[in-house]
Amino acid sequence: MHAMDSSKSLCHLHFVFIPLMAPGHLLPMVDMAKLFARRNVTVSIVTTPLNSIQFRDTIDREIQSGSPIQILHVPFPNAESGIPEGCESADTLPSVDLFENFFVALRLLHQPLEELLENLTPMPSCIIADKHVMCVADIAKKLNVPRITFDGTSCFTHLCNRNLHEAFPDEDKFLVPGLPHRVELRKCQLPPEFLKTNTKIDTYRKEVRVVAEKTHMVVVNSFEELEAEYVKEYQRVTGRKVWCVGPVSLSNKDELDKAQRGMRNSNDLSQILKWLDSWPPSSVIYVCLGSLNRATPKQLIEIGLGLEATKRPFIWVLRGAYGREELEEWLLEEGFEERVKGRGLLIKGWAPQVLILSHSAIGAFLTHCGWNSTLEGICAGVPLITFPLFAEQFYNERVVVQVVETGVSLGAEAVVHLGEEEGKSYVQVKRESVRDSIEKVMGEGEEKEKMRERARRYAEMGRKAIEEGGSSYHNISLLIEDIIMHVQG
Ligand code: UDP
Repeated sequence: MHAMDSSKSLCHLHFVFIPLMAPGHLLPMVDMAKLFARRNVTVSIVTTPLNSIQFRDTIDREIQSGSPIQILHVPFPNAESGIPEGCESADTLPSVDLFENFFVALRLLHQPLEELLENLTPMPSCIIADKHVMCVADIAKKLNVPRITFDGTSCFTHLCNRNLHEAFPDEDKFLVPGLPHRVELRKCQLPPEFLKTNTKIDTYRKEVRVVAEKTHMVVVNSFEELEAEYVKEYQRVTGRKVWCVGPVSLSNKDELDKAQRGMRNSNDLSQILKWLDSWPPSSVIYVCLGSLNRATPKQLIEIGLGLEATKRPFIWVLRGAYGREELEEWLLEEGFEERVKGRGLLIKGWAPQVLILSHSAIGAFLTHCGWNSTLEGICAGVPLITFPLFAEQFYNERVVVQVVETGVSLGAEAVVHLGEEEGKSYVQVKRESVRDSIEKVMGEGEEKEKMRERARRYAEMGRKAIEEGGSSYHNISLLIEDIIMHVQG
């Protein structure tokens, strides 16, 4: 059935999006919200004032082009949660000790969110919420509207987690049960939900899992062509409705949207673009370890030295990393920037990642394998060099290296859980490995050419998926139809 006519107004339907306040969760949800609003359903994105500043401009442009979309605010409970004023998202917390307070703040959103949603016109037809904003489960129940869960990962991750919870292996090194591919992992590479510790954060995580388990509908930032078998299997074993609606970053078609995505400071865009323009196609290595970037200074130094050793042009993004002062000191003392001058561009702060990746000069992406970055790299059609750090990033590495085979691993051995970097000054990946892995995907060679060809093919499939007639476009239609049926009772 494809009863929905995209030209017909569906404005009486109201889709409410509630993202988690962290770039890796908020950015894809804003992208997703735009895709829905372009299908003429009324869309509200609910967040706190400081978070909305990051995407206000892009939403204004959507409104100007006719999309029924708006931003609604709930205040961030700074005082009550003990989080300093001016800080409303996970990546701006001044210390990892405040993660606990951040979860307190999420709980405190219950009442203001409930009041806001109760009084919305038109009434919400469904709520699409990040799984970490757990209170939405109660609110949706009270308002009798469907709740659709988003958690920022892939169907591959959903399935690995689910299967490992069903049958946790005894051995340290194991094959993940029930997967279409042979995927080997070690216990020390698993996400924190498998930790046996009992901190307050673990308790919160467990609760999140229990609440998320009860969900019947899930939206995923992925596309069916990328992980078809995993989508089907995940649906089959859970009985959930699973809608892949990505790659959502491709909703940013114009340069301004790409440039401003998640922008927090004003790194000189024109300078970055001019620099990129000066290099031949597919020659530059782009290096970024995500929005939280918790690699230790010693590890970052190895990456820097590895990049230097390649003699290739590179962009290296240094976010407000853990131990930032130590790194700055090293950069200064060693004269690193001077040594790589001309061919190494360091971006300190927020990089316009989606814009950079869409530039033809980019030849490879060294990534920490956050799911957004992984997918954005796949959409860029370049090989990935994978360096998973925390959360479910080792799963994502396996997707790249073993499932779609468009990348090589740097060889990291174990997760360093967020907040546990202290004292872990050891280096997981040496400069030689950085240099050699980059050489495995750059330059001449039949195998490399095949990998690049595969990368280009997946990028093309991703592009088609969100266009009219594509699988993700179709899934958005199906989801909307599902909600229409629910509204009609
Ligand atoms: N990002 C960006 N510029 C930066 C760092 C991150 O645009 O300097 C974006 C990136 O494009 C991605 C998101 O932030 O969409 C990070 O999400 P991901 O899942 O890759 O990793 P996380 O930050 O959650 O670890």
